[in-house]
Amino acid sequence: MILIDGKKVSLEIKAEIAEQVKQLKENGGKTPHLAAILVGHDGGSETYVAYKIKDCEAVGFKSTLVRYEDDVTQQELLAKIDELNNDTDVDGFIVQLPLPKHIDEQKIIEAIDPKKDVDGFHPENVGRMVIGLPSFVSATPFGIVELIKRYNIETSGKNCVIVGRSNIVGRPLSVLMSQKAINTTVTVAHSRTKNLKEVCYNADILIAAIGSPEFVTSDMVKDGAVVIDVGTTRVPSSETKSGFRLKGDVKFSEVAEKCSYITPVPGGVGPMTRVSLLKNTLLAATRKIYY
Ligand code: NAP
Repeated sequence: MILIDGKKVSLEIKAEIAEQVKQLKENGGKTPHLAAILVGHDGGSETYVAYKIKDCEAVGFKSTLVRYEDDVTQQELLAKIDELNNDTDVDGFIVQLPLPKHIDEQKIIEAIDPKKDVDGFHPENVGRMVIGLPSFVSATPFGIVELIKRYNIETSGKNCVIVGRSNIVGRPLSVLMSQKAINTTVTVAHSRTKNLKEVCYNADILIAAIGSPEFVTSDMVKDGAVVIDVGTTRVPSSETKSGFRLKGDVKFSEVAEKCSYITPVPGGVGPMTRVSLLKNTLLAATRKIYY
């Protein structure tokens, strides 16, 4: 069994990005600039945004954090998005989700200029990705495909089963995994799937994006399968300073011994998601997607 080290690969990619930024600056180019809008004080969102800002610093990007309280109006958010869309110094920006209930998330996503939509959530980017045009691809699917490529995992003609069909993970990933460069035969499973165990057992590449700790057990995994665990559920822990730890969707202790490759949680998909946002920002700054 080979442990897929997302942390190590993400550090390699970070070093590549830092080098490209250095060269950009040396050639008189503009410093890539990522902005993030954060609403409220949700612990998870605060942590994710703090990581994003720290990652920017690590590779030499400029970053801007725009904060609002929970009671911000949709109008105020839309006005800020309009400002960022028109700010020529900002190459890309994200609005950290989830947003408070009184705000229509889809409206917010659709207000972002697709050329600055480094999260890849805008319908224009999703549509372009589906038909194979250059686009910003949402960070988690982008990172997973990069991980598979960097480990030279054989994909052509393989059965890929993705459990989960969210707009940010399962669904875009199903498109990427069926593209000509990857060539897997994709099954997307979800909460209404019948005989899920058998469906998963048929997978050469099994990707779990469910959000249910240790859901995938060894009887669902074929010998020699590649297993990618996207799940990150916070569970209480007395052993960590934060009082919680992350659990994946795969019962690692029993599944790992059956696999050819497996990602751990933490240290697998998570770091790749982080670095993919940096990649998208660099693509935005160097006008590699639409120009
Ligand atoms: P989500 O929007 O809640 O989607 C979960 C999906 O799992 C849904 O499609 C749901 O099916 C399916 N599902 C739930 N219970 C199931 C069951 N018993 N059997 C089969 N399918 C089931 O979640 P998400 O945003 O995609 O995230 C999934 C997990 O990945 C979460 O733990 C999240 O924290 C994690 N995540 C990690 C990263 C990272 O960087 N590592 C990034 C993003 C997300 P229905 O559609 O039928 O409801």
